[in-house]
Parts: sequence; C-alpha cells; structure tokens
Amino acid sequence: MKIDLKRTPEDFSQKLNLKESAEVLGLKVEDVTFEDPIQVELSVTKSQDQLICRGKVKASAKMECSRCLVKYDQKLSSDLDFVVDLTGNSAEGRSESEGYFLVDPASTFFEIDQLVREAIILCLPLKPLCSEDCKGLCPICGTDLNKSQCGCVEEKTDPRWDQLKGLLKRKL
Ligand SMILES: [Zn+2]
Ligand SMILES: [Zn+2]
Repeated sequence: MKIDLKRTPEDFSQKLNLKESAEVLGLKVEDVTFEDPIQVELSVTKSQDQLICRGKVKASAKMECSRCLVKYDQKLSSDLDFVVDLTGNSAEGRSESEGYFLVDPASTFFEIDQLVREAIILCLPLKPLCSEDCKGLCPICGTDLNKSQCGCVEEKTDPRWDQLKGLLKRKL
C-alpha cells in the first residue's frame, strides 16, 4: 500500500481507502488466516512540508478459540497515526521517531505496508475467544460445552485432604 506523494499540492487533504490481501502485504501470523483483504482508511492532510496521516486499519482474522478450539472470525481494528516529513534529511534538527518519517523530497510514494502489518499484529488478541462467555471443552470427555452438555462430573478433592496426605508422606 502506498501514499502518492507527487499529487499532493499545498493545503491538500484527501481520504484514502486502500485494500490489499494479506499475502501482498507480507502479513504472516502463525495460526491466523486473513481471508478478506486488509482495509485501510486514511485521511491525509498536507501542512507545509508534512503529511499528517490519520486513520484505521481493519481486518478479519480467522483464529482458533483458546477455550473451545473452534475457528472463528475475529474483527480487528487499529488506529493508524503517522507523519511523513517531505523535507527529508535536508531539514536540520529533525529526526525520525516512532510514527514520524523523513522522506526524500524526490520520492514519489510512501509505502505503508510495514505500518499496516505492525498495527494488525499489535491488536491480535493473546487469548483468542470465540465469545466472551465461551464455555470451552469438557476436560474429561472433550465435548464442546457451547453445543451440548455431557453430564461428566468433575472430581473435586477436598484441599484439606491434600494437606493431610502431604503431612503423612513426610512422616513416613
Ligand atoms: Zn470458544
Ligand atoms: Zn464431559
């Protein structure tokens, strides 16, 4: 995905709607598939020699629920905020930092693939859940408790007995 830098006159402002497949973007995450194109909505405003870019990255990720192991679609949305400085290295006292990029004045485009990849990876859940109240799998028979009940009774040992057992072991 690119922002065209040549067609940006003064006081210029435009809305960009970009779409690209995860494959073309080079977006690869283990155990996650992106079937739909990644979407970027960006508003680009030119102010002197800077392009102020604000928008959102949206994607739908097919992931495995960490409780019931079902594959489900996780909607992802992340803010994208950055500034492209078109004076490049000729500008004194300016340096690149997070979200601030110096671009050579002769450049014709600014590529945002990496920014988009990072934004998506940052908003992936660490513990994916198909729904907040997913009941998960029965630890005994493996039944998906969201779909049916199995009647298994989880054996619970009295914690006081465990302590006593420990004491006995020590004495023996
Ligand atoms: Zn689940
Ligand atoms: Zn069960």
